[in-house]
Amino acid sequence: MPLEQLRKLQSERLRSLVQRVYQQVPAYRTKLDEKGVTPADIRDIQDIHQLPFTYKTDLRDNYPFGLFAVPQNEVIRLHCSSGTTGKPIVVGYTRHDLDVFSEVVARSLAAAGGQPGMKIQNAYGYGLFTGGLGLHYGAEQLGLCVIPISGGQTDKQLMLLQDFQAEMICCTPSYALTLAETMKARGINPASLNLKYAVLGAEPWTEAIRHQIEKELNVKATNIYGLSEVIGPGVSIEAWDEQGTGSYIWEDHFFPEIVDRHTGEPLPEGEEGVLVFTTLTKEAMPVLRYWTNDITSIYYDKQGSRTHIKMAPIKGRADDMLIIRGVNLFHTQVEAVIDQFSQLTPNYQLVVSRTGSMDEVMVKVEVSEQYVTGWELTDCDEPTWNAHDQVTLTIKALSKKIKDQVGLSMRIVLEKPGSIARSEGGKLNRILDLRK
Ligand code: ADP
Repeated sequence: MPLEQLRKLQSERLRSLVQRVYQQVPAYRTKLDEKGVTPADIRDIQDIHQLPFTYKTDLRDNYPFGLFAVPQNEVIRLHCSSGTTGKPIVVGYTRHDLDVFSEVVARSLAAAGGQPGMKIQNAYGYGLFTGGLGLHYGAEQLGLCVIPISGGQTDKQLMLLQDFQAEMICCTPSYALTLAETMKARGINPASLNLKYAVLGAEPWTEAIRHQIEKELNVKATNIYGLSEVIGPGVSIEAWDEQGTGSYIWEDHFFPEIVDRHTGEPLPEGEEGVLVFTTLTKEAMPVLRYWTNDITSIYYDKQGSRTHIKMAPIKGRADDMLIIRGVNLFHTQVEAVIDQFSQLTPNYQLVVSRTGSMDEVMVKVEVSEQYVTGWELTDCDEPTWNAHDQVTLTIKALSKKIKDQVGLSMRIVLEKPGSIARSEGGKLNRILDLRK
C-alpha cells in the first residue's frame, strides 16, 4: 500500500480506536482525561503523540479483564503472557481479532518463504502462550499444512521432520539450536530432511546464531517478532530474501513509534529507543501507545519489496538491561563477541553478582566439541599460565574483545560441551542475576 494511502487508513483507524476506548474502557477514559485529551483532538495519525502511554503495570492493575473494550460474550479466546512474577498478563480476542491475528501471521509466513501446499512443523508452545495457536491459524490461513507438535519432545520432532518432510519449522532460535545439536548427536544428516525455511522468534538472537542454524538445519532462517499485549507473533517479520535488513512491521494494524526510554519523547527514524505500539484494529483489548520495553529502531527501507516500515532486531528488553558499574549491558552484546570465536559455542550464560559495591559479570561459555580434545577444562576460569595454553589464550582473547567491544571487564569461565542449559522448547534465560 502506498504510504499516503497507508497514513489515511491509519488516521481513520486511530480516530475510531480512540473513540471506542474512551467510551468503553474507564481506565483509558481516566488516562485521557488526566492528559486533557479528548477523542475530538485526535484527527490524524500524527496526533498519536498526544495520547498517554500504556504500561505493563496498567495491564496488571486491571487484571484480568479491566481493559477489555467489548462485552465479555464477544471475547472468544484468552491468552496470557508468562509474567515472571505474580499474576500473568491476560489478553482477549474477538472473532475479528483472531481474523487479524491469522492474517498478519499468514502475511508473515509468506514473507518468510511459505507457500500454500507446504508443510510447517509448529514447535512453538501451544497453550496460554500466543506462539503455538497464533502460528497455527496463520499457517492454515495461508494454506500450509500444520503439524502441531508444540515445543519439546526433541526426538519426536526430529522423527517427524524426517518422516513428514516439512519444508518450514517455527520455534524459538534457542530451540532450533537444540534441534540442530541433537541431530548431530544422533547422526542425522540434514539432507535427510526437507526443511527450507525456519521462522524463529520470541527471544533476541544474533546473526551468528542465524548462520549456525542455517548451516546445521540447511534452511533460510528469518526473524518473527510479536508480543501478547499487541496480538502475539506476527507483529513483524523479516522477508527471507531481505535477510539482515530488518523486519517489516504490519503497520496497518500495529502503529509503531520509537521513544526515548527516559523521557518518552518520540525519536526520529533510525534512532534507537523503546518500541511503542498502538493496535489500530484490535477490538477486545486494544492498547494505546503500549510501552513494549523492547529496544530497537525503525526505518523505511527504500530497497525493500514492501512499503511498510522495518524494525531492527531487538537488542533486549529495557528491563533485562543490566547496569554494570554504570555501563548498560544487553546479553546479546556479549553473544555477538562470543560468536567471533570458532572454538566457542553460542551456549553461554551471564552470572551477575555483587561483592561489596562492585558488580561483577561472569561469562560461562561452552567450548566446541571439535576443539575440546586435549583441553584441560578444570580450573580454567582464571587466565593463569598453569592452565592449558589454548584455554588461557581463548580466555584472554575473549576477555579482551569483551572489554574492547562492550566496555566492561568480565570473568570468563570455559565450560565443557553440553554443560550449559539448553532450550527445551521455549524461551531460554541467559542471565542469572544473583543480586536480586
Ligand atoms: P512474555 O512477556 O511472557 O515473554 P510474550 O510471549 O508476549 O510474553 O513475549 C513477548 C516478548 O518476547 C517481546 O516483548 C520481546 O521482548 C520478546 N520477543 C518476541 N519476539 C522476539 C524477537 N523476534 N526478537 C527478540 N525478542 C522477541
